[in-house]
Amino acid sequence: MNARLFGFGLLISGMALLPGASAQEAGNESPRLVQVSDSVFRTVHRPGAANSHVIVTDEGLVVVDGTCRGDGNPAWLKQELDRLYEVPVKYVILSHDHEDHICGLQVFDDTAVTVSHARNREHIVREGRNTSVPDVVFQDEMEIHLGGKKIVLYYFGPTHSNNLIQVHFPEEGVLIAPDIARAERSLALPDFRDSDIDGLINTLGILAKLDDVDIVVPGHWGPTTQESFLEYRDYVVALRDRVLEEMKAGATIEQILERVTLDDFSDYGNFDIWYRANVVSMWDKMYRYREPNLDDAGDYQTAYPIGFAVGFTGMGSNQ
Ligand SMILES: [Zn+2]
Repeated sequence: MNARLFGFGLLISGMALLPGASAQEAGNESPRLVQVSDSVFRTVHRPGAANSHVIVTDEGLVVVDGTCRGDGNPAWLKQELDRLYEVPVKYVILSHDHEDHICGLQVFDDTAVTVSHARNREHIVREGRNTSVPDVVFQDEMEIHLGGKKIVLYYFGPTHSNNLIQVHFPEEGVLIAPDIARAERSLALPDFRDSDIDGLINTLGILAKLDDVDIVVPGHWGPTTQESFLEYRDYVVALRDRVLEEMKAGATIEQILERVTLDDFSDYGNFDIWYRANVVSMWDKMYRYREPNLDDAGDYQTAYPIGFAVGFTGMGSNQ
C-alpha cells in the first residue's frame, strides 16, 4: 500500500474501543464463556475482541472462530472446554480468513475437523495464517450433524471478504455472522479494503430475511438482531452513493472527505474513528472498478494518489 493512501488512516482490525468507554468497560475481563442460547456460548474477555463461539452437543463440541488478541484465546478455550465438558471439540469452523477471527485454532487439531469455505483455505495456505488448515471445504452451503443437532454453513458470495461464511443453528434461532452485522458498539468494520461492495449490499438483504433467526452474533461485541443487517446496509448504500456522487462531479478525495460527512449515521459506534477510513476505502473501491469519466480538467483521472493517471489520460489510445 502506498504511503499517501495509508496516511488517510486505513485500519487493520475491528477492535478499537469506543471513545468514552468507562474504565471498567475499557479494561480486560477474566476470560469466560457467556451463554447466547441453550447450546451456544461466546467468549468474553478483552472488550471488542473478536468473538469465539461454542455450540454444545451430547456427542461433541463445535468451535466457531477464535482470537489471539486477549486472554480468551484458543489455548484458554481448550482448557476451559476440557474442564467443563466430557466430550471433545469435534469441529472447528472458520468464518473467514482475517487473522483476528481464526488465530491459534490449531490447538484443536488433535480432536477436531476444521471446516471453511474453499477460498478461505487458499488464503490460509498461501498467506501462512496462524490457524488450523481446513480439512473440509465447501462452496455454497454445508450441513454439519452432531449429537442430533444441525448446523448450516452458508456462503453468499464475496462480501466483507471473498470467503466469509455465516453459521446458522436454526433449532435455537442463532446466526453467527462475523463482521457483516452492525454490532451494538460498532460499525461492522473499519474499512472496505477486502470487500465486494455490491455483494455485501445484496447479502445484507438476504441475511435480514433468513428464516429461523432470533439472535445474531456479530464478529465483535454482543448479540443483536436481524435489524442490524438492514441498518448496516443503509449505511453502506448511503456511503457508496454519496462518494460516487462526488466522484461523478469531479471531486478529489480530499474534497470528498470534507463533503461526505455521514452525520445521519454518527450514532453508530466507532463512527468518529472509522468514518474517515470508511470514506477513503469506499472511494478507493469505486476508483478501482470504475472507468473514469472524461473531462478536460483531468482531475478525476489524476486524482488517485499513486503518482500516475488511472484510465484514459488524454494521450493517445485508452486501451
Ligand atoms: Zn473480517
